[in-house]
This record gives sequence, structure tokens and C-alpha cells, in this order.
Amino acid sequence: MKRDVLIIGAGGAGLTAAIAAKEEGADVLVLTKEYPTRSQTCMAQGGINAALGNVSEDSVEAHIADTLKSAQGQADEEAVRFMCMQAPTAISWLDGIGTPFSRTADAKVAQRRLGGASAPRACYAQDYTGLKILHTLYDKALSLGVEMQAEKYLLDLLKSEDGTVCGAKILDIRTGEVEHYFAKSVVLASGGYSRVYGKFSTNSKTSTGDGIAAAKRAGAKLLDMEFVQFHPTGLKNSSILVSEAARGEGGHVINSKGERFTDELLPRDMLSRAIHAEMQKGEDVFIDIRHLGEEVIDELLPQERKLAKLYENVDPVYEPIPIKPVAHYTMGGIEVDNKSQTSLKGLFACGECANHKVHGANRLGGNSLLEIVVFGKEAGKNAALFAKEADLLAPATEQKHPLEELERYTNEINFYEVRDELAALFYEKVGIVRHHSELAEVQNRLREIESLLPKMGLSDTNKIYNTNKIEFLEFCNMLDVAKSVVEGALARKSSCGAHYLSEEA
Ligand SMILES: Cc1cc2nc3c(=O)[nH]c(=O)nc-3n(C[C@H](O)[C@H](O)[C@H](O)COP(=O)(O)OP(=O)(O)OC[C@H]3O[C@@H](n4cnc5c(N)ncnc54)[C@H](O)[C@@H]3O)c2cc1C
Repeated sequence: MKRDVLIIGAGGAGLTAAIAAKEEGADVLVLTKEYPTRSQTCMAQGGINAALGNVSEDSVEAHIADTLKSAQGQADEEAVRFMCMQAPTAISWLDGIGTPFSRTADAKVAQRRLGGASAPRACYAQDYTGLKILHTLYDKALSLGVEMQAEKYLLDLLKSEDGTVCGAKILDIRTGEVEHYFAKSVVLASGGYSRVYGKFSTNSKTSTGDGIAAAKRAGAKLLDMEFVQFHPTGLKNSSILVSEAARGEGGHVINSKGERFTDELLPRDMLSRAIHAEMQKGEDVFIDIRHLGEEVIDELLPQERKLAKLYENVDPVYEPIPIKPVAHYTMGGIEVDNKSQTSLKGLFACGECANHKVHGANRLGGNSLLEIVVFGKEAGKNAALFAKEADLLAPATEQKHPLEELERYTNEINFYEVRDELAALFYEKVGIVRHHSELAEVQNRLREIESLLPKMGLSDTNKIYNTNKIEFLEFCNMLDVAKSVVEGALARKSSCGAHYLSEEA
């Protein structure tokens, strides 16, 4: 199959890139391992940042300053400036294609204040912001005739003799067949890797860093993989997110004695550490929104109420919600320049799998949805422009993928158990507070696990719809990504944002 631009991933970044590439005149194909209407993007609740000043005074300069402050010196000022300056246009574009944003009394796009922001800046659609954006992007992509194929799993990137990325090797989940897709340029928009932390993460099962692992195998540079953001308010038992909107609307963070012990609007890294420290003292921690009243909760935080009732058996109108900090967002990813071009010719990346150097060591709430729209557009446009000047190239001899080895693997060790062990180990030792000695322990365990992989083969050898196979491939990718996280964490000798050392090494 041949295309101008091949896009892997149909979250907000992939769909925005597809729309931009199509509008640039490219023949575009989007592949996704799930369905285009599902991804982390549809789980986003709190909002998308833009300094519109719709509810109180704000400025692009303030948005830039807040983002740089939160990034703790690890962001690129030019990239941040570009993103924040583009933000009002991004909102007006989303509004124009039909995103049903909540409105103020005078019909402007409504905005709320999220942690680390100096003004109410996050534009929202109740607490379903990502869902509404994703489905609007999907409609727009369909109306432009963008072709999308679901249940296609990226195995590896294909490279030509001169190292240019010229397509992808794909496993068709429905048939079990391996297929080759060729394209003049490829955009990775395959999301982050928070599921390395398994059930200690707000993300769905699919955030397994597949695109990042494939890019790494192909030789692309990764950047700042050690920066993993912990969200302060995951539900205690399920890790499902209580949106920052709950604090933005005035929720209190309290301990078992009912005392507020921190500033709720601190950036996420600081608030997660404050909650972690309180929990270390043996306290349970809660977010309390009772004082907002039922009417406000049902109008502005309907999803939070539903989730708390369903998964924590707590009605937040009457009781505080038990919480704990959990892995939420991965700032690290494939290094890209200001044209979303990776270190490999022909390969572009956007969204959470990419590192555009706009979040640094700690992302601000509301800036990820913004990034996927602003840089999704850049990636799609630049991939299309690249394709205009490029030829379709033939792939050189392929590198071996774990899938080819799989037939020889025995099934002596249950990889699901090892995956869960790894998640717990990461939560404990590569989490909110880190020690170099513990990071080294995790590194050793990762090496052991890798050497045992040939004993962790499949229990289901069917070809069609083999979820056991997909989960094993995702596990291999998470192992690969986990190695980069620990390597990065060991290399960083002092605390910075989400990478916090209990003692400086
Ligand atoms: C619960 C929750 C709430 C959030 N709230 C907010 C918020 O309020 N504001 C904000 O700014 N950010 C928020 N975020 C973060 C934000 O939603 C994500 O960072 C962003 O949506 C990521 O978009 P993406 O397109 O890069 O990736 P995703 O939306 O994760 O999409 C990735 C796509 O890649 C596909 N894919 C992955 N691997 C493969 C493979 N091997 N083969 C083929 N396809 C593959 C997936 O199927 C999917 O289509 C939230 C995140 C979560 C989890």
C-alpha cells in the first residue's frame, strides 16, 4: 500500500496531523491499533489552554511565563512561545469546526483556572473536553475524505538504503497478517508510555510507548524520558483521574483529619510530592468538593461525580473523594525540531510520543491538548511538504522484530505477572521520589527480565484477533521504554521537576 503521508495514531495529534496534511493536498492514511474515536485524548477532562481572557484578564506573555516556570528550565523558550502564541488561533479553529465548548453568560468560550496557571486559561467542554475535541476532529477528518484503518498495530518502521523512513511494518490485528505500508513520509502520533506504571496510572491500557520504542529501534533520538508526570488526584482504588478541574473550580485537598495541608493550585509535581509526604505520615488524602454544592458539581464536574460514585463508591456532593498521586503524562519522547521532524529523515512526530520541548520537566495542565493541536498541525503540514519533494523509496533489508522470534519462545513464565511486577516496581522506585541506588536496582531487574523474555512466550497461538500477542508486543515495547526512563533518571544527578531525588547523587 502506498501513500504520500502515513500517520500512526488517531488520537488528537494524529487526527489534527491528518487534517493538516490532507489540506496541504497529500494523500493521507491513518492507522490505529484501536478505533479513531478512542485514545487518551478522549479521556482529557480539564481543558485546553489559550490566553483568551474571556473570564478575567490574561495575556500570551503570562501563558508563556507560567509554562516556562513549570518546565523548570528544561523547555525551549522559542517552542513554548510559538505554542502559546498559536493557542488563540487553535481554539478559534476548534470552535470553527464545531467543538462544543462550554460558554460564558455572554457566549464566549468558558475558561477555568488549572494548577500552575496565573489566570483562568483552560477552555473546556464541561469535563469532557478531550472527548468533544476528538470526536469533532474525527468528523472533520471524515468530511475531508481522510482514510482511516483501525486495528492495525505498528510493529516497526521501514527504512531505505540511505536511512530515510519510507513506511511501516504493520500487524493486522483482525487477520494476524503482517503487512507493509509504504509512504513518502511517516508521522508518529502514537501517544505516551504511562502504562509502564500499569494500574498506577490514569491512562488506558494502550499507552504503551509503541511508537517511541519503534522509533528507538530505528535509531531515532529520544529526549528526557525520565520526566514522568504524576497527577496528584487519581482515585485511590482505581487510579482513574479526578480532573484538575475539581481543584480549578475550588476543591480542597485534605487529610484524614479534614485539614488542608497544601496549596491546591500548585503545579502537579509539587502537589504530588506534598500529597506523597502526607501519605508517608500514614494519612489518607482526599479531594473535597462538597462546598461547591450539587448544582455546580452537576453543571461543571458531572463526569467527576459519576466516576467517584462508580469506582470509589463515594458521592462527592456528600463525601470527600479518596485520592493518591499516579502516573499521568510522559514529558519525554522522540526528539523533534520546530518542524516536528525527528532525527530520522522522512519521520515526523507529534503529540505525547514526541518531545517538542514545550513541557520540560513538568507539564502544565491544559498544555497537552494545546500541543497536540498546534504541533499536530505542524507535523501534518511539514510531512505533506516533505512528501511533495520526495520519492517513494524501497526499504532496505529489514531489522528483526521480536515478533519473528516469538515462535521459538516457550511459555514457562507468565509475562502478565512480570508486567504487573514491573509496574509496581516503577511506582515505588521510579516514581514521585527517587533514589539512585533504587534506580540501579530497577535497571538490574530490567536486564534480568529481558534475558528471561524467551521463556515468556504466548499462551494463545491463534492468528486471528490474538490479544495475547498484542499484549506481549506492548510488554516488549514497555520494557524497551522503561530502560530509557531508568537510564535517563540515573544520568540526571540532581532534582528537576518530575524527577525528584530524595538525596542528590
Ligand atoms: C485521564 C486523562 C485526562 C487528561 N486531561 C487533560 C486535560 O484536561 N488537558 C490536557 O491538556 N491534557 C490532558 N490529558 C493529556 C492528553 O489527553 C494527552 O496527552 C493527549 O490527548 C495525547 O494525545 P495523542 O494524540 O498524542 O495520543 P493519544 O490520544 O493517546 O493517541 C494515540 C493513538 O496512537 C495509537 N497507537 C498507539 N500505539 C499504536 C501502535 N502500535 N500501532 C498503531 N496505533 C497505535 C492509539 O490507538 C491512538 O489512536 C489527559 C490525559 C488523561 C489520561
